[in-house]
Amino acid sequence: MGLIVQKFGGSSVADAERIFLAARRAIKAKLDGNKVVVVLSAMGDTTDDLIELARQISKSPPRREMDMLLATGEQVSIALMAMAIHESGHEAVSLTGAQVGLITDSVHTRARIQRIQADRLQKHLDDDKIVIVAGFQGVDEEFNITTLGRGGSDTTAVALAAVLHADACEIYTDVDGVYSTDPRIVPQARKIEVISYDEMLELASVGAKVMHGRSIEFAKKYNVVVQVRSSLTDGAGTYIMAEYPGMEDIVVRGAAVRTDLARVLLVGVQNRPGVAADIFARLASRHVVVDDIIQNVFYEHEKSANIGFTINEDDLDMVKEVCRELVSRYGVRSFEIDENVAKISIVGVGMRSHTGVAMKMFRALGDARINIENISTSEIVVAAIIDRDDAEKALQAVHAAFELDKKAEEQTIGKTMEAKPKAKAKRAAPRKKVAK
Ligand code: ASP
Ligand code: MG
Repeated sequence: MGLIVQKFGGSSVADAERIFLAARRAIKAKLDGNKVVVVLSAMGDTTDDLIELARQISKSPPRREMDMLLATGEQVSIALMAMAIHESGHEAVSLTGAQVGLITDSVHTRARIQRIQADRLQKHLDDDKIVIVAGFQGVDEEFNITTLGRGGSDTTAVALAAVLHADACEIYTDVDGVYSTDPRIVPQARKIEVISYDEMLELASVGAKVMHGRSIEFAKKYNVVVQVRSSLTDGAGTYIMAEYPGMEDIVVRGAAVRTDLARVLLVGVQNRPGVAADIFARLASRHVVVDDIIQNVFYEHEKSANIGFTINEDDLDMVKEVCRELVSRYGVRSFEIDENVAKISIVGVGMRSHTGVAMKMFRALGDARINIENISTSEIVVAAIIDRDDAEKALQAVHAAFELDKKAEEQTIGKTMEAKPKAKAKRAAPRKKVAK
């Protein structure tokens, strides 16, 4: 007996049949003696279709009206789900984001949750109803409808699980869990049984498309155990949870490749204090996210340096504008843009306590004749920038090298590689960049 939050993604409510299937799961949880909150996405491709419809009207529709439009998708699914549950002889009530008291800031189309006034929802649960909540949407202080960004209903589910102190937060989707990498690129990819919040966050940021990144931040902050599983089968799926000691035995949990990047090189930048700050301030003021910054100083004439960094491809036009500004008004000699890059990354908390991880990855890329153009590392990630044409080959090579196709117990990597003394690795050391 407890409280369960179940979230169903768009594919899990894509038609009447799927809606009944999801309804059955909610009813089963209820009959098992639980209070049940169901969070839904819009049916199938509804959100994409609505965006396309808006495009036919306007190239840049007001963001407030975009939210008004997109929020309708989830409202359709919650009403139908409540009907399906009634039809099956049980009690349910559907609630929009506003009705459930989900208050966000006013940043339309990517709003952040500020607080949830859950008393109304609680009252319906006390009345023994299954409560169906529209994911992805909320209202700001002025009652404008807002949305949380694409994929945001995951975040609604985890946030509700947090405020309601739910005993379980189940994310139902069309895959049976989180995989070691994208199975479309590497057919040997394996389902991961348990993954830590930090690993999941890193994997999401380096290209794995599993859950809304914000939802994992929430889960970590409020320690919500998230179970990602299939809506079509009964497998246990993947648990995303706080790290426990045995997790470090696995060196690499997953690998991913991003091909939506571009690399920028600023040539001949003055080498004096404050210049880098000025350059990146210009990019930040236009909300450009930069990654993998590398500066080379030329020692023959130390007055000049090259600064390279990667950006999201979508920001390319904006970044070119900034680069032109830097050249014309800031003494930067020239700039180059390379759109044919990819970033291959491996992620695992075990890197903290094992050595030789980066070396093993570089060796795998080398053996596959893939040239490494940049390297970056953080505590639990090693990443390399490579030619985009090599992206799939690189992922396959790295996945095989770390034996990610094998069951955790059967991997030899953690055992054969030298482990650093645990006590040292455990300390909350400053997060400086280290050679792995
Ligand atoms: N329907 C929204 C989207 O497609 C939210 C979600 O699915 O989580 O992005
Ligand atoms: Mg959707």
